Amino acid sequence: MIGLTGSAADRWIRRAAELVSADAERLTALDAAIGDGDHGHNLDRGFAAAVAALPADAPAGKVLIAAGRAIVSRTGGASGPLYGTMLRRAGRYLDDLDDPDVADFGAALRAALDGVRELGQAAEGDKTMVDALAPAVEAYEEALAGGAPLPGCARAAADAAEAGADATVPMQARKGRASYLGERSVGHLDPGAASTALVLRALAETLEG
Ligand code: ADP
Ligand code: MG
Ligand code: MG
Repeated sequence: MIGLTGSAADRWIRRAAELVSADAERLTALDAAIGDGDHGHNLDRGFAAAVAALPADAPAGKVLIAAGRAIVSRTGGASGPLYGTMLRRAGRYLDDLDDPDVADFGAALRAALDGVRELGQAAEGDKTMVDALAPAVEAYEEALAGGAPLPGCARAAADAAEAGADATVPMQARKGRASYLGERSVGHLDPGAASTALVLRALAETLEG
Protein backbone atom coordinates (compact mmCIF):
# COMPACT_ATOMS: atom_id res chain seq x y z
CA MET A 1 0.00 0.00 0.00
CA ILE A 2 1.13 3.51 -0.83
CA GLY A 3 3.53 5.19 1.59
CA LEU A 4 4.44 8.80 2.28
CA THR A 5 5.05 10.64 -0.99
CA GLY A 6 7.46 13.55 -1.28
CA SER A 7 4.62 16.01 -1.70
CA ALA A 8 2.81 14.60 1.37
CA ALA A 9 6.02 14.95 3.40
CA ASP A 10 6.32 18.55 2.22
CA ARG A 11 2.70 19.26 3.20
CA TRP A 12 3.25 17.55 6.57
CA ILE A 13 6.13 19.85 7.49
CA ARG A 14 4.20 22.92 6.33
CA ARG A 15 1.12 21.90 8.33
CA ALA A 16 3.25 21.12 11.41
CA ALA A 17 4.80 24.59 11.14
CA GLU A 18 1.30 26.13 10.99
CA LEU A 19 0.03 24.21 14.02
CA VAL A 20 3.18 24.94 16.05
CA SER A 21 2.99 28.60 15.16
CA ALA A 22 -0.71 28.79 16.10
CA ASP A 23 0.00 27.08 19.44
CA ALA A 24 3.38 28.66 20.20
CA GLU A 25 2.01 30.70 23.09
CA ARG A 26 0.37 27.65 24.66
CA LEU A 27 3.57 25.58 24.31
CA THR A 28 5.62 28.37 25.82
CA ALA A 29 3.18 28.70 28.73
CA LEU A 30 3.43 24.96 29.38
CA ASP A 31 7.22 25.30 29.41
CA ALA A 32 7.04 28.34 31.69
CA ALA A 33 5.29 26.16 34.29
CA ILE A 34 7.98 23.45 34.47
CA GLY A 35 10.90 24.68 32.34
CA ASP A 36 12.28 27.96 31.05
CA GLY A 37 9.35 29.18 28.96
CA ASP A 38 10.84 28.97 25.48
CA HIS A 39 9.46 25.77 23.92
CA GLY A 40 6.86 27.39 21.66
CA HIS A 41 9.33 29.99 20.49
CA ASN A 42 12.07 27.38 19.93
CA LEU A 43 9.87 25.12 17.81
CA ASP A 44 8.19 27.93 15.91
CA ARG A 45 11.61 29.12 14.81
CA GLY A 46 12.72 25.58 14.03
CA PHE A 47 9.71 24.66 11.91
CA ALA A 48 9.81 27.98 10.08
CA ALA A 49 13.43 27.17 9.20
CA ALA A 50 12.35 23.67 8.12
CA VAL A 51 9.72 25.11 5.77
CA ALA A 52 12.28 27.49 4.29
CA ALA A 53 14.65 24.57 3.70
CA LEU A 54 12.16 22.24 1.98
CA PRO A 55 13.58 20.94 -1.31
CA ALA A 56 11.39 21.14 -4.41
CA ASP A 57 10.11 17.90 -5.96
CA ALA A 58 12.11 15.64 -3.65
CA PRO A 59 11.13 12.21 -2.31
CA ALA A 60 9.89 11.99 1.30
CA GLY A 61 13.25 10.88 2.68
CA LYS A 62 15.07 13.92 1.32
CA VAL A 63 12.27 16.24 2.48
CA LEU A 64 12.46 14.96 6.06
CA ILE A 65 16.27 15.02 6.15
CA ALA A 66 16.30 18.65 4.99
CA ALA A 67 13.63 19.62 7.53
CA GLY A 68 15.46 17.86 10.36
CA ARG A 69 18.75 19.45 9.47
CA ALA A 70 17.20 22.94 9.43
CA ILE A 71 15.54 22.34 12.79
CA VAL A 72 18.81 21.26 14.41
CA SER A 73 20.62 24.32 13.16
CA ARG A 74 17.89 26.84 14.03
CA THR A 75 16.22 25.55 17.21
CA GLY A 76 17.54 26.36 20.65
CA GLY A 77 17.15 24.16 23.69
CA ALA A 78 16.89 20.43 24.11
CA SER A 79 14.06 20.14 21.62
CA GLY A 80 16.10 21.24 18.57
CA PRO A 81 18.45 18.26 18.46
CA LEU A 82 15.62 15.92 19.52
CA TYR A 83 13.19 17.03 16.78
CA GLY A 84 16.00 17.24 14.27
CA THR A 85 17.05 13.69 15.08
CA MET A 86 13.44 12.51 14.84
CA LEU A 87 12.97 13.87 11.32
CA ARG A 88 16.45 13.05 10.04
CA ARG A 89 16.27 9.45 11.25
CA ALA A 90 12.87 8.93 9.63
CA GLY A 91 14.18 10.61 6.48
CA ARG A 92 17.33 8.55 6.29
CA TYR A 93 15.36 5.34 6.75
CA LEU A 94 13.09 6.25 3.81
CA ASP A 95 15.90 7.61 1.69
CA ASP A 96 17.57 4.19 1.55
CA LEU A 97 14.49 2.59 -0.03
CA ASP A 98 13.31 2.66 -3.64
CA ASP A 99 9.58 2.97 -3.16
CA PRO A 100 8.71 3.14 0.54
CA ASP A 101 5.22 1.85 1.37
CA VAL A 102 2.96 2.30 4.41
CA ALA A 103 4.90 -0.33 6.41
CA ASP A 104 8.19 1.36 5.58
CA PHE A 105 6.88 4.66 6.92
CA GLY A 106 5.95 2.88 10.16
CA ALA A 107 9.49 1.55 10.36
CA ALA A 108 10.79 5.05 9.68
CA LEU A 109 8.75 6.38 12.60
CA ARG A 110 10.18 3.64 14.79
CA ALA A 111 13.69 4.62 13.67
CA ALA A 112 12.81 8.21 14.63
CA LEU A 113 11.72 7.08 18.10
CA ASP A 114 14.91 5.04 18.51
CA GLY A 115 16.96 8.11 17.57
CA VAL A 116 15.17 10.31 20.11
CA ARG A 117 15.64 7.67 22.81
CA GLU A 118 19.33 7.26 22.05
CA LEU A 119 19.99 10.98 22.07
CA GLY A 120 17.89 11.93 25.09
CA GLN A 121 18.14 8.71 27.09
CA ALA A 122 14.54 9.12 28.21
CA ALA A 123 12.28 6.13 28.82
CA GLU A 124 8.49 6.13 28.73
CA GLY A 125 7.20 7.62 31.97
CA ASP A 126 10.01 10.20 32.25
CA LYS A 127 7.58 12.98 31.17
CA THR A 128 9.11 13.88 27.82
CA MET A 129 8.22 13.82 24.13
CA VAL A 130 8.93 10.07 24.23
CA ASP A 131 5.63 9.69 26.13
CA ALA A 132 3.79 10.96 23.04
CA LEU A 133 6.00 9.48 20.33
CA ALA A 134 6.31 5.92 21.68
CA PRO A 135 2.55 5.23 21.90
CA ALA A 136 2.12 6.90 18.50
CA VAL A 137 4.56 4.49 16.88
CA GLU A 138 2.87 1.53 18.58
CA ALA A 139 -0.58 2.68 17.47
CA TYR A 140 0.67 3.13 13.90
CA GLU A 141 2.03 -0.43 13.92
CA GLU A 142 -1.23 -1.82 15.32
CA ALA A 143 -3.31 -0.01 12.72
CA LEU A 144 -0.95 -1.29 10.04
CA ALA A 145 -1.28 -4.85 11.31
CA GLY A 146 -5.06 -4.40 11.11
CA GLY A 147 -4.75 -3.50 7.43
CA ALA A 148 -5.26 0.26 7.66
CA PRO A 149 -3.91 2.44 4.84
CA LEU A 150 -1.55 5.34 5.54
CA PRO A 151 -4.16 7.94 6.60
CA GLY A 152 -5.70 5.48 9.09
CA CYS A 153 -2.29 4.57 10.51
CA ALA A 154 -1.43 8.26 10.84
CA ARG A 155 -4.74 9.03 12.54
CA ALA A 156 -4.16 6.20 15.04
CA ALA A 157 -0.67 7.58 15.72
CA ALA A 158 -1.98 11.12 16.20
CA ASP A 159 -4.73 10.05 18.60
CA ALA A 160 -2.28 7.94 20.62
CA ALA A 161 0.20 10.80 20.77
CA GLU A 162 -2.46 13.11 22.15
CA ALA A 163 -3.50 10.57 24.79
CA GLY A 164 0.18 9.97 25.58
CA ALA A 165 0.79 13.68 26.01
CA ASP A 166 -2.24 14.01 28.32
CA ALA A 167 -0.89 11.11 30.37
CA THR A 168 2.27 13.12 31.19
CA VAL A 169 0.28 15.39 33.54
CA PRO A 170 0.56 13.18 36.66
CA MET A 171 4.15 12.15 35.89
CA GLN A 172 7.23 13.44 37.66
CA ALA A 173 9.88 14.58 35.17
CA ARG A 174 13.10 12.60 35.13
CA LYS A 175 14.74 14.18 32.08
CA GLY A 176 15.27 17.72 30.85
CA ARG A 177 14.85 20.98 32.75
CA ALA A 178 11.54 19.94 34.31
CA SER A 179 13.41 17.22 36.23
CA TYR A 180 15.11 19.96 38.28
CA LEU A 181 11.70 20.63 39.84
CA GLY A 182 11.36 17.12 41.22
CA GLU A 183 7.88 16.56 42.62
CA ARG A 184 6.83 20.08 41.62
CA SER A 185 6.79 18.92 37.99
CA VAL A 186 3.75 16.75 38.79
CA GLY A 187 0.39 18.11 37.63
CA HIS A 188 1.62 19.77 34.42
CA LEU A 189 1.46 18.73 30.78
CA ASP A 190 4.93 18.20 29.30
CA PRO A 191 5.51 20.82 26.58
CA GLY A 192 7.54 18.51 24.33
CA ALA A 193 4.90 15.78 24.52
CA ALA A 194 2.26 18.39 23.66
CA SER A 195 4.22 19.59 20.61
CA THR A 196 4.87 16.01 19.48
CA ALA A 197 1.11 15.43 19.52
CA LEU A 198 0.70 18.54 17.33
CA VAL A 199 3.28 17.33 14.82
CA LEU A 200 1.55 13.96 14.52
CA ARG A 201 -1.83 15.64 14.24
CA ALA A 202 -0.36 17.61 11.34
CA LEU A 203 0.59 14.33 9.67
CA ALA A 204 -2.90 12.86 10.08
CA GLU A 205 -4.60 16.05 8.84
CA THR A 206 -2.30 16.22 5.84
CA LEU A 207 -3.00 12.64 4.82
CA GLU A 208 -6.74 12.91 5.39
CA GLY A 209 -6.65 15.79 2.89
P1 ADP B 1 14.85 23.47 26.88
O1 ADP B 1 14.30 22.64 28.00
O2 ADP B 1 16.29 23.21 26.64
O3 ADP B 1 14.50 24.91 27.02
P2 ADP B 1 12.61 23.10 25.10
O4 ADP B 1 11.87 23.94 26.08
O5 ADP B 1 12.57 23.53 23.69
O6 ADP B 1 14.12 22.94 25.54
O7 ADP B 1 12.05 21.61 25.12
C1 ADP B 1 11.66 21.00 26.33
C2 ADP B 1 11.08 19.64 26.02
O8 ADP B 1 12.11 18.80 25.50
C3 ADP B 1 10.54 18.91 27.22
O9 ADP B 1 9.20 19.27 27.47
C4 ADP B 1 10.69 17.45 26.86
O10 ADP B 1 9.54 16.94 26.22
C5 ADP B 1 11.82 17.47 25.87
N1 ADP B 1 13.03 16.89 26.46
C6 ADP B 1 13.91 17.50 27.27
N2 ADP B 1 14.91 16.65 27.59
C7 ADP B 1 14.64 15.47 26.97
C8 ADP B 1 15.27 14.19 26.89
N3 ADP B 1 16.43 13.96 27.51
N4 ADP B 1 14.69 13.23 26.13
C9 ADP B 1 13.53 13.46 25.48
N5 ADP B 1 12.88 14.64 25.51
C10 ADP B 1 13.41 15.62 26.25
MG1 MG C 1 12.42 25.31 27.44
MG1 MG D 1 15.58 26.68 26.82
